[in-house]
Amino acid sequence: NNTSTTTTTTGSGAGRIEEIRSVKSQRVAAHSHIKGLGLSEDGSAILVKDGLVGQVKAREASGIVSELIKSKKMAGKALLLAGPPGTGKTALALAISQELGPKVPFCPMVGSEVYSSEVKKTEILMENFRRSIGLRVKEIKEVYEGEVTEITPEETDNPLGGYGKTISQVVVGLKTTKGTKQLKLDPVIYESIQKEKISVGDVVYIEAVSGSVKRVGRSDFYATEHDLEVEEYVPLPKGEVFKKKEIIQDVTLHDLDLANAKPQGGQDIMSMMGQMMKPKKTEITEKLRLEINKIVNKYIEQGVAELIPGVLFIDEVHMLDIECFSYLNKALESTLAPIVIFATNRGNCVIKGTADIQSPHGIPVDLLDRLMIIRTLPYSFNEMVQILTIRATIEQHKIDETSLTYLAEIGNNTSLRYAIQLLTPSSILSKTNGRSSITKEDIEEIHSLFSDAKTSAKLLEKNKSKYLY
Ligand code: ATP
Repeated sequence: NNTSTTTTTTGSGAGRIEEIRSVKSQRVAAHSHIKGLGLSEDGSAILVKDGLVGQVKAREASGIVSELIKSKKMAGKALLLAGPPGTGKTALALAISQELGPKVPFCPMVGSEVYSSEVKKTEILMENFRRSIGLRVKEIKEVYEGEVTEITPEETDNPLGGYGKTISQVVVGLKTTKGTKQLKLDPVIYESIQKEKISVGDVVYIEAVSGSVKRVGRSDFYATEHDLEVEEYVPLPKGEVFKKKEIIQDVTLHDLDLANAKPQGGQDIMSMMGQMMKPKKTEITEKLRLEINKIVNKYIEQGVAELIPGVLFIDEVHMLDIECFSYLNKALESTLAPIVIFATNRGNCVIKGTADIQSPHGIPVDLLDRLMIIRTLPYSFNEMVQILTIRATIEQHKIDETSLTYLAEIGNNTSLRYAIQLLTPSSILSKTNGRSSITKEDIEEIHSLFSDAKTSAKLLEKNKSKYLY
């Protein structure tokens, strides 16, 4: 992703965090077809549902775990998904978070992420913990709803400069208890209207402060990037009762940390939320986090905000070392803990950071003791075909049945992940050759150009003498 890397080359703390975030969203994008665990009322898995295919036992077990989480019986415990690469561990963890409710945070990370020369391991773990804890903030707002009835652009110099064009007038038909009132917003900056793609007939939300228009936008969120900037405060018609709206906004504790990592800080929850749009950040310190916790707790007590514990998914758990494990052991007991789901494809191995202590999955036994373990199994050929079909559809690739079967065969011999990864390059190749649909030949050619992990390892072994060791 070009934009994210070019904007984050300053080397500041904030830049680094941005970069990690963009990698995270890419990680979730591979699972965009997953919508839940696909279980029926009685908890049994429906073969193909909610984007999930097969893996029946693991899905049913995950269903039980999400019930345990909902009834708050998982405190102090965590889940471990164990199985070969590409067997859907990440997919299952995401599905569990979706079963817990809408907007429940899902934060994926890889064990090796904790090793950085700049930041402490526990700091990285802490940051990810806070990314996995959501806060739902409710606020009753003076919000009016109206329909845009007229937009009059005007080719004049923008008095504020820079934009070139202004809208001389936007007329919004406000629905009131006594019919529709015309509300003239004057003038509104043209670029905002274009950005929001607001046109006549659109419903807009008008946020007011003591009876005057403060902000107009298409979305009813508290603050979006695409609000229309109203240059003047326009008074609203008096004496009418419009609807007051409850605005609900979901953020994570990490969003608040990040947004308030600047010298001033915020004193109340709304100014804390308001900081989210502003750039120029300093480092997130322990002190800042404590302050934010204090404010958050106050608002929870007052019923303005509610905590939504999400899911922290730690893949390749064997990459964590003994220090990380001891931190996790403690953190799991905190009242502010998300659900932690570990994943591994390793058997017995040495616990990192110890000289030679072997343990299952490289996890210390005291932590293992608190884990519920679910196994994921390799997919059958038919299941591969179905998963590949779902991915091809969601990525908008056209592919015929023969090619899908061939791709599934490749997946069977290599891994599902590898087969899925062949889809996009094959599609590019077919387009380059002037076709709209992926053929078997496209896949063959791409497959011959790239290596999957297993083949690559075999090749290295075979040609050992040609490499430096
Ligand atoms: P690794 O061990 O490498 O971390 P993993 O076990 O986490 O792999 P995923 O990344 O979840 O595997 O799976 C690879 C791809 O296949 C993803 O795009 C995932 O969404 C998809 N996938 C895996 N299992 C299923 C399933 N049962 N149904 C539908 N899609 C699946």
